[in-house]
Amino acid sequence: MVLCERQGFLGGNFTTAVVGTVCGLYANRGTDEAPSFEPAVGGIAGEITSALAASGAGMGPIPFKGRTAVFIYQWWAAKRLFDHLVEAEPNIDLLLHSVVSDAIVDDGTVRALILATKRGPKAIKGRVFVDATGDADVATFAGVRTETGGAGGRQMASMQFLLQRVDDAAVITANAALSEIIAEHGAHLSRDGGAVLPTFRPGEFWGR
Ligand SMILES: Cc1cc2nc3c(=O)[nH]c(=O)nc-3n(C[C@H](O)[C@H](O)[C@H](O)COP(=O)(O)OP(=O)(O)OC[C@H]3O[C@@H](n4cnc5c(N)ncnc54)[C@H](O)[C@@H]3O)c2cc1C
Repeated sequence: MVLCERQGFLGGNFTTAVVGTVCGLYANRGTDEAPSFEPAVGGIAGEITSALAASGAGMGPIPFKGRTAVFIYQWWAAKRLFDHLVEAEPNIDLLLHSVVSDAIVDDGTVRALILATKRGPKAIKGRVFVDATGDADVATFAGVRTETGGAGGRQMASMQFLLQRVDDAAVITANAALSEIIAEHGAHLSRDGGAVLPTFRPGEFWGR
């Protein structure tokens, strides 16, 4: 099996975009007033979050905006974890810095993908291709019809940033009033909400 990644590391937005919080892992088995969050997702997501939590580089469920909960993690640790997980798989050939740039289609079937690599173009033949590009790049190159949501129909991209050397208590207090602060001072912003979450180092938070 060949795993092809355009970046020099694994994880997609989990590491590249410093997403920082994983949504959708927990179900509220309690009430809105007294929530009780339990894991609702297993598989690879469960394996990764359990490994991050066991190494002290992640924790959850963290209540988030009332009725939901997230898992927070340290992205540098996630990069290392993904390296180890893939290395431990005997049947994966990992190609980093390799961008899928075209598909060879014959008789309605994808026969090969063309990769742009640091060593020039390469063709990878195969029987089965899994498109995990997030943007359906392989499907698009193969000529498959795709759809993109229109204005307001796509997930907006948050701008992630790090705050350092801040007063932990002051940030946590301000976080509770973030929507009101944005409403009062953020007329120039494209979003009316945000979040400020602790990293695993004192005085350090990431925001969006
Ligand atoms: C700034 C930001 C904040 C977000 N915040 C949250 C959040 O707080 N909680 C949450 O749950 N979700 C969040 N999301 C959404 C979440 O990141 C995505 O839903 C999720 O990453 C989708 O996973 P994926 O594996 O489908 O795609 P991706 O994570 O995009 O992974 C696609 C992978 O394919 C690679 N790739 C793409 N094209 C090619 C190509 N042509 N050739 C080779 N490799 C290619 C990419 O480098 C990447 O590694 C956020 C997204 C962003 C951008």
